[in-house]
Amino acid sequence: MRVLGIESTAHTFGASVIDLAKEREGEKAILSDEKSAFSTEEGGMVPGEVADHHVEAFDRVIRDALAKAGVRLRDVDLVAYSKSPGLGHTLRVGAMAARSIALLANRPLVGVNHCIAHLEIARLVTDAKDPVLLYASGANTQIIAYEAGRYRIFGETLDMGAGNFLDQFARALGLGFPGGPRIDALAKEGDEKGFIELPYTVKGMDVSFGGLLTRLKHLIREGKRRREDLCYSVQETVFAMLLEVSERAMAHCDKDELVLGGGVACNGRLQEMAKAMCAERGARIFIPARPLLADNAAMIAYLGGVMHRAGISDSVRTAGIAPYERTDDVAVTWR
Ligand code: AMP
Ligand code: MG
Repeated sequence: MRVLGIESTAHTFGASVIDLAKEREGEKAILSDEKSAFSTEEGGMVPGEVADHHVEAFDRVIRDALAKAGVRLRDVDLVAYSKSPGLGHTLRVGAMAARSIALLANRPLVGVNHCIAHLEIARLVTDAKDPVLLYASGANTQIIAYEAGRYRIFGETLDMGAGNFLDQFARALGLGFPGGPRIDALAKEGDEKGFIELPYTVKGMDVSFGGLLTRLKHLIREGKRRREDLCYSVQETVFAMLLEVSERAMAHCDKDELVLGGGVACNGRLQEMAKAMCAERGARIFIPARPLLADNAAMIAYLGGVMHRAGISDSVRTAGIAPYERTDDVAVTWR
């Protein structure tokens, strides 16, 4: 079964074709995975502007995905799209594209939850069987694991996602969007000697970034600290918070696999710290390739295929979006 997947929850518009018949071959099942991401030199993301970007990009990205996979629309058996969670403006563009294609090609359609797709794709491309997922992206930061028929959220951010936090911090430093990679680069020029003690907020299994951001804005206004030291200290602090709750979730669920997901997981320092934590507790860590950590349509296509195989389908007329759907709202009938 060939699945065309469409991703549009936030700044990335993606399209991918996967061949579910090649599931056993892992990454080889992904025939193509194309994307176009919105970015700015200054300022952040305005939902309407990001949606305009997607409207401008969608046909090219979808055509590229089909061409790279070497398939025509009539070779596609199923259309999958990200229906949740995300920005209403951008989700609507992807859902419209998916519904139009399903209608034109007369193919079934399935809408999927983006957070769950981050975990499922790791089960396709790595040896992870039943992992805890540390999902740290722009809007989302959740620690997710499968328990009793659902993907449960064992910990999460109480305010903004780790990526949005990094982006806002970067904006305050005048670095543009997305800020994560720019902070990553600057942090490499900082070190322990310049470490600045920052608010470390872990509440039970949850984290929060608001107080930390306020403190950083204050420090930036004061202008006494090097940007490199600020970036270094932010990474050390925030990643320690994320890994503290991830480790506790692994202990609580008695799971010995950790998977990373989300754009923030592209960060080399986070990966290094996660590896160290897993090594200490004798757990295995799995880090999918960069394009699959960031938002991508391959994971949407894959999860759509797996769900459809289990009998789940949406109708073109009613297939909608659910910007606020939570990971544990979805009954997992395919596992
Ligand atoms: P996503 O929503 O999963 O596509 O992730 C986007 C977020 O990942 C943005 O907030 C980026 O700033 C962040 N990001 C991307 N690369 C890095 C990196 N190397 N280090 C930290 N954050 C990153
Ligand atoms: Mg994501």
